[in-house]
Amino acid sequence: MYTEFIAAKNDFLFTARRTYASGIQTGTGGNLSSRIPGTELMIVKPSGYTYGDCCEENLTITDFSGKLVEGSYKPTRESTLHGGLYSQFIAVGGIVHTHSPYAILCSLSFSQIELCTMHSALKLKKPIPIIDVETQAVEASEIHKVYEEFEKNPELSAFILKGHGIVAVGSSARKAGQIAELIEETAEIFWKSQNK
Ligand SMILES: [Zn+2]
Repeated sequence: MYTEFIAAKNDFLFTARRTYASGIQTGTGGNLSSRIPGTELMIVKPSGYTYGDCCEENLTITDFSGKLVEGSYKPTRESTLHGGLYSQFIAVGGIVHTHSPYAILCSLSFSQIELCTMHSALKLKKPIPIIDVETQAVEASEIHKVYEEFEKNPELSAFILKGHGIVAVGSSARKAGQIAELIEETAEIFWKSQNK
């Protein structure tokens, strides 16, 4: 458990800094998490802090319902989504959610983001679906919409919440972060190719 926790913590902190440095998430928005393997616990970004602020001192651990287990900071309200994905899909080890501008822009006009670059087509294989939810975060009442997309495509590595942002999943947060960066890059190219 201790070794798994250290690995998850390192994965979480690396990805928080890397994603903030990439510029796909500014300010205090978005959220990332890392599963602590062998437990029903996850490390999440505390509410009101930027990705760049994440450090050992504000480490926040919750169960999959979002209930605080370790730490003294308020967990994100998006914990329901993160915990739901970890409960449902054992292969998911990390989740990166960002309010990235081009992905949001595309989500307002299209039903999916087309994989218009060679690299995105190779890596992501199928267009990125856009899911329309009414709640600010994805609450329990609407999470079935997310599960349905994964049932349609078990290899799905990301989706876009309409008008809201990217949710990328991977075997680690680091891998999920790489997917989120690739999607924002692809969304920018897709948007510009449609609006010449
Ligand atoms: Zn969000």
